[in-house]
Amino acid sequence: MTVKNSLAEHSSALAQRRNDVSLTRYSGRFAPSPTGPLHFGSLITAVASYCDAKAHQGSWLVRIEDTDIPRIYPGSEDHILRAMDAFCFESDTPIIFQKDRLDIYEAVIDELRQQDLVYACQCTRKMLGSNHIYQDTCRHLGLGFEGQAIRLKVEDVEICFDDPLQGTHCSHLRQDLGDFVLKRRDGIINYQLAVVVDDYLQGMTHVVRGADLLDNTERQIYLGQLLGYPRLNYIHLPLAMNDQGQKLSKQNMAQALDLSKAPELLQQAIQALHQAHVDLDTPDRMLKQAVAQWNIDHIPHTTALQGYYL
Ligand code: GLU
Repeated sequence: MTVKNSLAEHSSALAQRRNDVSLTRYSGRFAPSPTGPLHFGSLITAVASYCDAKAHQGSWLVRIEDTDIPRIYPGSEDHILRAMDAFCFESDTPIIFQKDRLDIYEAVIDELRQQDLVYACQCTRKMLGSNHIYQDTCRHLGLGFEGQAIRLKVEDVEICFDDPLQGTHCSHLRQDLGDFVLKRRDGIINYQLAVVVDDYLQGMTHVVRGADLLDNTERQIYLGQLLGYPRLNYIHLPLAMNDQGQKLSKQNMAQALDLSKAPELLQQAIQALHQAHVDLDTPDRMLKQAVAQWNIDHIPHTTALQGYYL
């Protein structure tokens, strides 16, 4: 697809969405990055996003967020896809891979460039202060875009959103976050851009994900606003911790989900979310029961699942 076509697709999707009344129907997603195999924390996100969508008679899809090619962990994409099968998480639309959609993100960057909302930046990570808030060093340098990172200019505004589990969350974009990178110097499209564009192009209404992503949300809302996208609903789940009190992550070697134990793991994930008990059965029947019993208010309103260690 050429950049021009992607732009056209992007703009026509925008027009279509604005006229599409069916958008009030809940659409949710699970969007793992293949930077390691799925772990129990990922399963909690998959269960919660799936059950919340289905309990609202909504649709749910899987998207693989694989733009950060150097961080892709060999075999993890395959593990994610096998996990979706083993747990009977069926995506309502064919699974998309962000690495196949780079020209769409480039087209969006072009749009932002035409509106003078981005600039080229030559600063390295080391040059950022210890708090990692960008100090506008390159904002007014007028550097050429070739081979440089691309940063979004953020205005001095406060963005807030209401999360049913985490309460009201706010950031002052300039003071708290600063201008942020949409495309890295090595050409990699940043998560912040790809997630916003795809949530929009895939018609999402709800984002259910781990509380480790809370601090990204204001940036994503802001970028969505600049692009004229409708605001999404955000629900950030408390995180499962390991026995040293760290969130489970690929970095701290969280154990990969053992797909031969899908029913047992599913039962534990449903329990970790403080939902009503689900009997051991086939994963599809267990998910049906979990959806029928789903009550989001029972999920602890915290960022970590207290007293629940793996
Ligand atoms: N791909 C991101 C991750 O695996 C999650 C993106 C999201 O849910 O917004 O951490």
